[in-house]
Amino acid sequence: MKLLVTGGAGFIGSAVVRHALAQGHAVVNVDALTYASCLSNLAKVATLPSYVFEHADIRDDAAMARIFAEHAPDAVLHLAAESHVDRSIDSPGVFIDTNVRGTYTLLQAARAYWQDQGSPETFRFHHVSTDEVFGSLGAEGLFTETTPYAPNSPYSASKAASDHLVRAWGETFGLPVLISNCSNNYGPYHFPEKLIPVVILSALADKPIPVYGAGANVRDWLYVEDHAEALLTVLTKGVAGRSYNIGGNAEARNIDLVHQVCTLLDELRPKERSYAELITFVEDRPGHDARYAIDTRRIQKELGWQPSVTLEEGLRRTVTWYLDNPAWWQALQNRDGIGKRLGRR
Ligand code: NAD
Repeated sequence: MKLLVTGGAGFIGSAVVRHALAQGHAVVNVDALTYASCLSNLAKVATLPSYVFEHADIRDDAAMARIFAEHAPDAVLHLAAESHVDRSIDSPGVFIDTNVRGTYTLLQAARAYWQDQGSPETFRFHHVSTDEVFGSLGAEGLFTETTPYAPNSPYSASKAASDHLVRAWGETFGLPVLISNCSNNYGPYHFPEKLIPVVILSALADKPIPVYGAGANVRDWLYVEDHAEALLTVLTKGVAGRSYNIGGNAEARNIDLVHQVCTLLDELRPKERSYAELITFVEDRPGHDARYAIDTRRIQKELGWQPSVTLEEGLRRTVTWYLDNPAWWQALQNRDGIGKRLGRR
C-alpha cells in the first residue's frame, strides 16, 4: 500500500514509517517539523525510493489537497499532534489548533480525495489516539472500547475532540475510518521531555530525577515498536468504523518504573552510588490522572495482535539505546523547554 503518514518525524510516527517501509509499503511522510520532530530518526530509510518526505502542516488545506492529489495514497495513518500534557497546561491553544482544527482539515482533504477516487471501500483513515481520552481509573478496572470519554487535560480533551471528528466523518460521510487508543509508549528515539528519557538523561547528568507528586500514578506501558506493529495490524485488518484499544498489559506506578530504570543504569553504567539516590519528589501535575489501564481483548481476539516485548525487556533495550546513542539526545538539549519544569497551574 501507499501510506500517507502524518507526524512521521515524531517518536511513534518515525517507528511507524520505519516499520511500514520494512513491511514493503510505500510511505509519504507529512510533518511540519515542530520542536518535537527529529528527521534523523529516519536517517536509515530516508534515501529509499519507496519513501517521500513532505514538509507541510496538516492545518494547511491547500497543501493537504495538493499532497493527496500528487501522491494518491491508499490509506492515511494520522499521528501528527501536539503530544505533551505539560505543554498543554501552559499553552492549550496550539493543542486545540493542531489536534482539533488540524484533524478537521486533514479529514476534509482526505474526504475530497476519497470522493474523487469514487469512494473506494478499501480506503482507510486511521486516527492514532490515546487512552487518556477515557480519563482516570480507580484501583480496579480497565478501559474498553466502550468506556465513556472523560478527558481531564487540555491534551486529552483535544485528542477526544479529534476522535469525535473522525467518528463523525465516518458516520456522516461514509469515510472508512479507524481509531486506535493506546497507552504510554516508550523506547528508542523518545523525545527528552517525556518521563523515561527524563529519568535516564537526568541520571546520566547527575541531576535530580524529578518524580511528580508521590509517584503513585499508574500507567500501562507499551514498547514503541510493538505499537507500530499494532497500528499496521489495525490499518490492514481492522473493520472500518471500529475502534481498537492498544496496550502493553504492563501496569507500573511511576515511582516503581523510575526505580527500574535506575537499577538498569546501576548495572549498565555503574557509579559509586545508586542513581536512585537522585530521585526527587516535586510538585504534582495539575489534574494528574491516577491510573490508566487497557483491556486489549478486542485487538487480540479480532486481529490477532499482542505485545511481544515485556516491560522489563523493553526498558533494558531503551536504556541501552540511550547509552549507545548520546549524539541523538545531545543534539536535542537546546530545543525549547527541554530540561525545564513545564505545566504548573
Ligand atoms: P511526537 O510529539 O513525538 O510527534 C508529533 C509529530 O507531529 C512531530 O514530528 C511534529 O513535528 C508533528 N506535527 C505536530 N504538529 C503538526 C502539524 N500541525 N502538521 C504536521 N505535523 C505536525 O508525538 P508521539 O509521541 O510520536 O505521538 C504520536 C501520536 O500518537 C499523537 O497523535 C499522540 O497523541 C498519539 N499517542 C501518543 C502516545 C505516547 O505515549 N507518546 C500514546 C498514545 C497515543
